[in-house]
Amino acid sequence: MIDLLIIGSGPAGLSAAVYAKRSNLDVMVAEKEFLGTGQIAGSIRVDNYLGSFGMSGYELGESFRHHAEELRVPFYTGEAVSIRRSPGGWKTEFYGGEILEARTIIFAGGTVPRSLNVPGEQELAGRGVSSCVVCDGPLYRDKTTAVVGGGDTALDSALYLADMCKKVYLIHWRKDFRGNHVTLEKLRERDNVEIIRNAAVKTINGTDIVSSITLTNGRLLKVDGLFKAIGSDPGTALVKDIVRLDAYGYILAGEDCSTTADGFFVAGDVRTKRLRQISTAVADGANAVFSAIAYLKANE
Ligand code: NAP
Repeated sequence: MIDLLIIGSGPAGLSAAVYAKRSNLDVMVAEKEFLGTGQIAGSIRVDNYLGSFGMSGYELGESFRHHAEELRVPFYTGEAVSIRRSPGGWKTEFYGGEILEARTIIFAGGTVPRSLNVPGEQELAGRGVSSCVVCDGPLYRDKTTAVVGGGDTALDSALYLADMCKKVYLIHWRKDFRGNHVTLEKLRERDNVEIIRNAAVKTINGTDIVSSITLTNGRLLKVDGLFKAIGSDPGTALVKDIVRLDAYGYILAGEDCSTTADGFFVAGDVRTKRLRQISTAVADGANAVFSAIAYLKANE
């Protein structure tokens, strides 16, 4: 049985890994995606994490991962399918049946991208419907795309696409955007960007690939690609019977990252918090390890 299993390899999980390894804990990071760095990998540019000015989320994530690898943090690739108590700790089972036992867990599973839940979304996923402009944007050079959402991701994505696409529609179901007003101003100045407010996507159309979208205001837009930037929800289905969640499904925990279950800690976006940023996720990683060490010492 190891001291600590960290579930998730985004900024929170990797920060926890660095702190745990430097504290001489017998630690393992379990990640769903091989060589993952979490959702940060899809961010176009991260100017608000100290020292990262001008870097893409992918680059920053790789530098986080490199840091953990330099410290010889062991990684396990697999999707956790159940977590339950075992004598003296926790037993985590992974897809395929493998089991890892640890005295403590730091759950840093992050959030899951939302779905539009409209006809065509599933059928045309990966064939014109995407959630990542960094990954798929270059496929739409000189073509027409639409971005859905009103937060920072939507605004940043639309601006990114505006540099390469013939035309970009930014579609938001409200009048006011919650994303940064400076980015919104930049979008307004672009001739090839059309901002559509008070409208949602009703259907995504196309046989093999996306050809158009129908909006709730009745407009039919001919587009080659649709990018969803509508935020995400906490990925807590796996732990809902272990720890207490808030009304929105996030794991209840304060800054010490302790949950309602002994020896089970949480870090990053999946925790109740006011501000979900890389900086707060990284801070959680450190705090969660600090709490895990205190727990391990108290239960030696
Ligand atoms: P977000 O802030 O939660 O925004 C999601 C947007 O999608 C909201 O405008 C929401 O509408 C809309 N939406 C939700 N469900 C929808 C649906 N079914 N159909 C249409 N629209 C829907 O998510 P985010 O933009 O990914 O940002 C997440 C966090 O990361 C935020 O704290 C953000 O500031 C941060 N972030 C920062 C940067 C940066 O600093 N450069 C870049 C990216 C993200 P409502 O407005 O009505 O809720």
